[in-house]
Amino acid sequence: MTDPLAPSAPATAGASAWVTVDAAAIRDNVAELVRRAAPAQVMAVVKGDAYGHGIVTAARAALAGGAAWLGVAQLQEALALRAAGVEAPLLTWIFPPQADLGAALDAGIEVTVGSAWSLRSAVAAARERGQAARVQAKVDTGLGRGGVLTDWEEFTLELARAVAEGSVELTGTWSHLAWADAPEHPTVRAQQERFAAAVDALRRVGLDPGLRHLANSAATLTTPAAHLDLVRPGLAVYGLSPVPDLGTPADFGLREAMRVTARLTQVKRARAGQGVSYGHEYTTPRDTVLGLVPMGYADGIPRHAGNAGPVQVGGRRYMVAGRVCMDQVVLDLGPDFDGAPGDEVTLLGRGADGEPTAQDWAEAAGTINYEIVTRMAPRAPRVVVGDER
Ligand SMILES: *Cc1c(COP(=O)(O)O)cnc(C)c1O
Repeated sequence: MTDPLAPSAPATAGASAWVTVDAAAIRDNVAELVRRAAPAQVMAVVKGDAYGHGIVTAARAALAGGAAWLGVAQLQEALALRAAGVEAPLLTWIFPPQADLGAALDAGIEVTVGSAWSLRSAVAAARERGQAARVQAKVDTGLGRGGVLTDWEEFTLELARAVAEGSVELTGTWSHLAWADAPEHPTVRAQQERFAAAVDALRRVGLDPGLRHLANSAATLTTPAAHLDLVRPGLAVYGLSPVPDLGTPADFGLREAMRVTARLTQVKRARAGQGVSYGHEYTTPRDTVLGLVPMGYADGIPRHAGNAGPVQVGGRRYMVAGRVCMDQVVLDLGPDFDGAPGDEVTLLGRGADGEPTAQDWAEAAGTINYEIVTRMAPRAPRVVVGDER
């Protein structure tokens, strides 16, 4: 095997299925994003267990590739990174009013304040610790999700008071795009303009906005005007294209970091007319050979991919036959199949040798590549290859 994503046998001995993560690919993807974004800095987004790739592995590889920052959604994810010994600058943007922002402060985690209550929580934690909280202000410039939407002027005044009393230090100001994957969409320009106006409003009350950031993967790759001081790519870090209609990963100088492999657990003859899997939504059209792949929706294989999900066996592409079960899928391997139980099958990879990609699965399941990799469940062990472990 020449595929660098094919791990050595001992790492997977006895496993039914596993997820190989190429840390060198993550490192190199980040290096490419750093090159594209310069002089803006790169915050590698490692939320959602690094889109299924493993948060600590991905964080270390991203830092090796030149990421200056790491970004996570939940405060718990940030604390987990610190507990694993990751010391890089770290920003979180999701926590409830009950969260312990004192713990964030102690761990040197920067918190996003995107509402009056979150700013007050940060101020309260800072007063209690007798130490300024490093915060980044989030303005909703049109996504209609997180951040201050209608009360920005009022918010800037409260923020200015908190900075003046020394309870917070404003290190950044940011927002998120609604249509970054459609670079020509008028909202992309409009959100940049609203963001600039929000930054001006901060300056009018005497605040330095700190690092200004707006760009996710799609904007990092397609809208240089939105790079500002820092970009926040997630998907591209893992070598997937956020704009599959505009370019493949290779077109953007990226390579996929995940491969999903399983071993056939049964290979058996079946007669024509045999119903396959729950509800018999597939019936063998002729005498054939059925193969069992020990991955199902408990492992993150989308149930929507029944009769559609692609799997490569012995260099050939097959489609899942019938429904995806919790623990397995069935393949109709054809009458001449000469493989055996224990043979490796590839559910997704880079596609270089004809294996299905995350994008192929996304199309088969009616979803996006983001969801395919992120939902890969922990039951399949992660095997890290590449030089950054
Ligand atoms: C997830 C996320 C990102 C990364 O988005 P990608 O499309 O994966 O690059 C950036 N910023 C915020 C606020 C996010 O939630």
